[in-house]
Amino acid sequence: MEKVLNYIGGELVPPTSQQWLDKPEPATAELYAHVPDSDETDVQRAVEAATNAFPAWAAMPASERARLLRRVADTVRARLEAFARAESIDTGKPLSVASSVDIPRSILNLEFFADAVTQFSSEAHATDALALNYTLRSPLGVVGCISPWNLPLYLFTWKIAPALAMGNCVVAKPSEVTPMTAFLLAQVCREVGLPPGVLNIVHGLGAKVGAALSRHPDIAALSFTGSTRTGAEIARTAAPLFKKLSLEMGGKNPNVIFADCDFDEALATTVRSSFANQGQICLCGPRIFVQAPLYERFKAALVERTRALKVGDPLEPGTDQGALVSQQHFEKVMGYIDLAVQEGGRLLTGGRRAKLDGRCRNGWFVEPTLVEGLGPECRTNQEEIFGPVATLTPFEREEEVLAWANSTRYGLAASVWTKDLSRAHRFAAKLHSGIVWVNCWMLRDLRTPFGGVKDSGVGREGGHEVLRFFTEPKNVCVKL
Ligand code: NAD
Repeated sequence: MEKVLNYIGGELVPPTSQQWLDKPEPATAELYAHVPDSDETDVQRAVEAATNAFPAWAAMPASERARLLRRVADTVRARLEAFARAESIDTGKPLSVASSVDIPRSILNLEFFADAVTQFSSEAHATDALALNYTLRSPLGVVGCISPWNLPLYLFTWKIAPALAMGNCVVAKPSEVTPMTAFLLAQVCREVGLPPGVLNIVHGLGAKVGAALSRHPDIAALSFTGSTRTGAEIARTAAPLFKKLSLEMGGKNPNVIFADCDFDEALATTVRSSFANQGQICLCGPRIFVQAPLYERFKAALVERTRALKVGDPLEPGTDQGALVSQQHFEKVMGYIDLAVQEGGRLLTGGRRAKLDGRCRNGWFVEPTLVEGLGPECRTNQEEIFGPVATLTPFEREEEVLAWANSTRYGLAASVWTKDLSRAHRFAAKLHSGIVWVNCWMLRDLRTPFGGVKDSGVGREGGHEVLRFFTEPKNVCVKL
């Protein structure tokens, strides 16, 4: 049985409580690791280590910090296979996805922010001929980063890399559901000589470790990615303490397909945007709206492509769909499929537990599922399912589908498919969404602002937005 350890003050340590959580492998439902069940005491130690490390780390030239981050990135790259395998086993996602998406993007996050910090500069301007204003941007101090299970190392590095690059020290909490690659990263950080205390990783439950971070008086800012419910709880705790907050939360994204789209591209991408990572990506587009003239043709082709997806052992090369991340999440998704049927939905394909043979016979696999016949206001189309379940709805007019697209409490991302350029721009501008993809999906440029509106988030990650988030600006006004 593998044992995950905390990383505090440069050391790999067990939790003070000596209590451990069980960690099953989603593809087999068998226990394979123990995770620290850490608590406030471990968080306190981590904050102290980070506080001690902060002055030297903040004073280090940005280029030196960047060099260390690049060394971390290089070492992860050298071990890409081991990281990808660990991510696949921990999450149930296909190894092919972990090795082509999760781990390469994690490396890129580290490299991107290592580069970005060396090119970051603050603002200055003259107030007519009266004065010169310039803004000093200093690191905040000790910051907390809390990440979810769906893209474990990818989202973990997306937060810690900019925080560290800007000279902050970090206490990070990966999801207790998928701790393994953060543990491997801790080992890399030790090996490459990241100064002790600069990055600390405390594993454990949200209600213990996450809550302790949210209320810790010496943590200046919290960067969180996860569910809207948890984000609200963190905000309730942290807001009266005046912590800076960045919250990246849930989504129920629309995928709007006009009749004049490029059919093949829209189809192939819709298969991905519905089912990539078993539908467990906050950017997935599970509400598929197709304009009436194209509806039947698109539906038939999508059903065929969906049926062709191979649900299988995540470690096998031919697998398209792996397991859902946990039994609890599996039950939630299956509950939503039942709800879709109760609400009057017709299953076009899928809808059942996928039964596998051999080592995966007890794993938490769900058939990729398409449902039609539901209105945009029903719970199935309003609540985040976060699994391989998408609905198809025909529409006639642009205004109608715009209203439906905007009708949920969420507003993270949207896709629009059309060859009509004016419509694409007009529609993109009217969507209540932090991110709009026109004729594509998940085409990422790390310089762009990333985040959601409404209940999907507060603040933006990515590029200079996140570098600014991890600084305290001070304006200096000099009279001329
Ligand atoms: P979650 O909210 O259950 O957990 C996220 C993290 O918060 C975990 O590390 C968890 O331990 C911690 N946590 C739980 N309770 C806490 C508390 N009371 N205080 C502090 N921390 C606490 O989310 P999840 O199930 O791990 O992830 C799935 C969710 O994440 C989905 O809603 C998905 O849309 C969202 N997500 C959003 C984005 C984005 O960029 N907007 C990206 C990925 C995932």
